[in-house]
Amino acid sequence: MIFDEAQQEIAKRIDNNKNISNWRNWKWQLKHAIKSLDQFETITGINFKGKERKDLEKTFDRFPLSITPYYLSLIDPENFRNDPVFKQAFGGIEELITQPSELSDPLAEDHDSPVEGITHRYPDRVLFHVSNICSMYCRHCTRKRKVGDVDFVPTKDQLRKGIEYIRKTPQVRDVLLSGGDPFMLPDEKIDWLLSEISSIEHVEVIRIGTRMPVVLPYRITDELISILKKYQPVWINTHFNHPREITTSSKEALARLADGGFPLGNQSVLLADVNDCPRIMKSLLHKLVRNRVRPYYLYQCDLSEGLSHFRTPIGKGIEIMESLVGHTSGFARPTYVIDAPGGGGKIPVMPNYIISWSTNRVVLRNYEGVITTYKEPDSYEAKFCDRDCESCNLDLELGEGNESDAIGIEMLLQDENDTISLVPENNERLQRRDDNAGQD
Ligand SMILES: *Cc1c(COP(=O)(O)O)cnc(C)c1O
Repeated sequence: MIFDEAQQEIAKRIDNNKNISNWRNWKWQLKHAIKSLDQFETITGINFKGKERKDLEKTFDRFPLSITPYYLSLIDPENFRNDPVFKQAFGGIEELITQPSELSDPLAEDHDSPVEGITHRYPDRVLFHVSNICSMYCRHCTRKRKVGDVDFVPTKDQLRKGIEYIRKTPQVRDVLLSGGDPFMLPDEKIDWLLSEISSIEHVEVIRIGTRMPVVLPYRITDELISILKKYQPVWINTHFNHPREITTSSKEALARLADGGFPLGNQSVLLADVNDCPRIMKSLLHKLVRNRVRPYYLYQCDLSEGLSHFRTPIGKGIEIMESLVGHTSGFARPTYVIDAPGGGGKIPVMPNYIISWSTNRVVLRNYEGVITTYKEPDSYEAKFCDRDCESCNLDLELGEGNESDAIGIEMLLQDENDTISLVPENNERLQRRDDNAGQD
């Protein structure tokens, strides 16, 4: 086994020269996660002084620190203030700044929660928070409000509430396990949880969101893979933000998962001074696809408290997307999304490619700036759809229960629905109409 010098040095300082072979033991890594400023200073040799040190203490009182020795070993101590790993793992005193637009729960996850642990926001899928802890506390965590809630690992009884909700809600076909990090649970609990969820007939896929391949790749053991394999289809999404995070160890973890047959995706967060650069982003995406990971989302940084220093204008994300579309493989390109504050869900945003439109022509531009026209068909016979597939010549054989009502904008596009507008609640103009009608 080859260890680099930084790893050897850190292991030595943690374990007093004991066995470096523990380095790849994920439980050893967890046990020795760096949780205090003192520990951080002793192990890295980086020291803070005076007011900065006091403010850092305050920061970690409010938002706790936890860094795995592995992830710590990726920090460059010579240039730590510009280091993308340092910025994600250690953070700084800017976290104590709260801006008026920031919220502790910007996505209203706690509001859309029918039972403890479940966020049910979209029609056919739920988010299931199965652990409240992580091996590394990302400084940019959108759920910062929950981080470090005294090592809260739900008991089986607590998890059963979420499982029961899924069981009695037949429209849920996709269950997304998140947290915290679901892989913080012990193997046998993961096994139990997956067997419970996958035994529910209407659940078609299970997804797991984990940052372990990035911050603790040794968690991806052969035993874990053999457990997960029993419950296919299991999709796994991870969270790399910077090309520096793709190391020999993380590549091994990804290879294990890909060889296990799990489709892999990646969700990055756009972070100021970490990855807000088209070249860094492209390098990350290329490294991901080389390791069989499909970039899935690029998130605009949420309005959670203490994240103002990480936020970029949305224009930065658009600029990055502009540098990707056409310039690199379509499958290397994530969808850039803004998670709507207040709980509206993820909204995709893109540069504009449609320049103009007439009744039979669309004018488009490509990534090079070439402007082109697409001539639309002279005759297209619209099919009237009354959502009665049995009398339709498209031959879609839907099983019972597969039909659902159209909602939102989709509904406005539908033939059999008479709705012509969606109006915000308490619209004054319409209220006035009602009032006037009352006077007649
Ligand atoms: C992101 C998210 C999902 C999954 O959304 P996809 O677009 O299907 O990946 C589900 N529920 C909640 C609450 C989410 O935030």
